[in-house]
Amino acid sequence: MAMRMSTLFLRTLREDPADAELPGHKLLVRAGYIRRAAPGVYTWLPLGLKVLRKVETIVREEMDAIGGQELSFPALLPREPYEATNRWTEYGDNLFRLQDRKGVDMLLGPTHEEMFTLAVKDMFSSYKELPLTLYQIQTKYRDEARPRAGLLRGREFIMKDSYSFDVDDAGLEAAYQRHRAAYVRIFDRLGFDYVIVHADSGAMGGSASEEFLAVSPVGEDTFVRCEATGYAANVEAVVVPQAPPVDPAVVAATPAAHVEDTPDSPTIETLVAQANALHPRADGREWTAADTLKNVVVMLTHPDGTKEPLAIGLPGDREVDAKRLEAQVSPAEWAPFDEKDFAAYPMLVKGYIGPRALGEDSPSKIRYLLDPSVAEGSAWITGADEHGKHVFDLVVGRDFTADGTIQAGEIREGDPSPDGGGPLTLARGIEMGHIFQLGRKYAEALDLKVLDENGKLVTVTMGSYGVGVSRAVAAVAEATHDDLGLCWPRALAPADVHVVATGKDQAVFDSAGLLVADLEAAGLSVIYDDRPKVSPGVKFKDAELLGVPTIVVVGKGLVDGTIEIKDRASGARRDVPVERAAGEVL
Ligand code: ATP
Ligand code: MG
Ligand code: MG
Ligand code: MG
Repeated sequence: MAMRMSTLFLRTLREDPADAELPGHKLLVRAGYIRRAAPGVYTWLPLGLKVLRKVETIVREEMDAIGGQELSFPALLPREPYEATNRWTEYGDNLFRLQDRKGVDMLLGPTHEEMFTLAVKDMFSSYKELPLTLYQIQTKYRDEARPRAGLLRGREFIMKDSYSFDVDDAGLEAAYQRHRAAYVRIFDRLGFDYVIVHADSGAMGGSASEEFLAVSPVGEDTFVRCEATGYAANVEAVVVPQAPPVDPAVVAATPAAHVEDTPDSPTIETLVAQANALHPRADGREWTAADTLKNVVVMLTHPDGTKEPLAIGLPGDREVDAKRLEAQVSPAEWAPFDEKDFAAYPMLVKGYIGPRALGEDSPSKIRYLLDPSVAEGSAWITGADEHGKHVFDLVVGRDFTADGTIQAGEIREGDPSPDGGGPLTLARGIEMGHIFQLGRKYAEALDLKVLDENGKLVTVTMGSYGVGVSRAVAAVAEATHDDLGLCWPRALAPADVHVVATGKDQAVFDSAGLLVADLEAAGLSVIYDDRPKVSPGVKFKDAELLGVPTIVVVGKGLVDGTIEIKDRASGARRDVPVERAAGEVL
């Protein structure tokens, strides 16, 4: 049955909602798809629910196609299983906790590994019953610190979560690959421009893990990609191998002493000039103050006379203004040596340029370099020589961690790819899906074992796989909208055709009504703007705002026996004879 605008539970808004940041979110509210009930909690109105159901159908079809069996767990869950895996604690403030009338602790499920594991434990006991893949499309609760952008980060949201159960590692790998292929089909059908990136397995534990990120400037994740090799990873998961170590001869030849600031201390400009003179960059670019200020490597003298370089982090803030910094890094401002952080080096450093010198909110951190090698890109400041003069030796500038790797968060455009490939590019993305090889972590915690071929009890190995179903609605809206409104791909649109009847003439409404019936008979779903007293201008604006892919205007042209068919996305219009209209629409 066509959705008639005269009766549809819909009210479009001309004004943007005050609490919405992103254009897609504003439009979903303005076009009457969703309504905010509380921060991060949304009501699905009829049109929104149609889109959501379409996403669900795509996800369901692809999960069924890999043999997933659908079931549905409650959202209201007991504490004990989450206690057993320590997630009652680990989830911290993100968990919605509550008590029943008897004072028994409960939670609203943020994800369901525990419940699936226990269900399989209760019902299955033999390797013959595996492999098994179960899934649900269900409401999740997470008390997100910053629920933003509406459906993109809800506190109540809909996720497809599936779980695979296998007796051995090869089985898990196969289940993971099946899911990966299903996800490719899902995100292709949803029409995303997406990348599959290596992901940090984070709190979930386990080994292999990948994310499907929709490429989008409004994404909260940053990923790196190497065009040449196809390598792609979430920056959280990137570990760049250590750059070639500095020649030990350089280290040995560096005079060591305490770091002291003196009136002769070089200015930032001197450091930059020295760096450019002594150590031209491989990429031809000139060093700038921001580079030299990234790190200082201080040559330490141990009480026994041995020398060791120590890295001191300078502001992580790359935009730091050299002048401002220089002004602040006066000897008086040097923060006192922090005994706690430098416990291993008592008496060795007189001061460091720390948060105090740079303001409390400075992201400046102290980093140790316990290995005397310095990652390429590090500024290298040695202490005063025996004449009391500072000797500055700049070796290329970059942050590094104690284990000698470049920190994930420090990856920059142009860095080498960990797989040996050419330069990395950085971009932002929205996490749409996440697949994990969990391994035996949950099965062990909850004691999920089955008998193997030899009658021996073995712990089951698991995978867990999520798709952000409600997030997908928002991400598609974000990716496809234009200045006029939402602009759905056909696969997700709440209807195939939006028929607009204009004018006051009853003949127009009669023709439009017949056309709607024809379109429906042809299997198309229709929104029919049959409102008698609304101006054509308002109707056109609403049709554009709602974003159904094909708009058909029945009105002025009828005198010549034509109607107009307009493509919402391209704006292309054409007139076609009314009797051929149904056939011409798609
Ligand atoms: P994020 O990094 O965005 O917080 P996550 O890594 O915490 O997501 P997972 O635990 O991997 O999320 O959950 C699986 C999927 O559920 C995610 O890939 C994402 O698409 C979706 N999802 C997670 N949190 C939310 C949320 N608050 N609102 C909507 N969808 C979400
Ligand atoms: Mg999260
Ligand atoms: Mg994530
Ligand atoms: Mg994730």
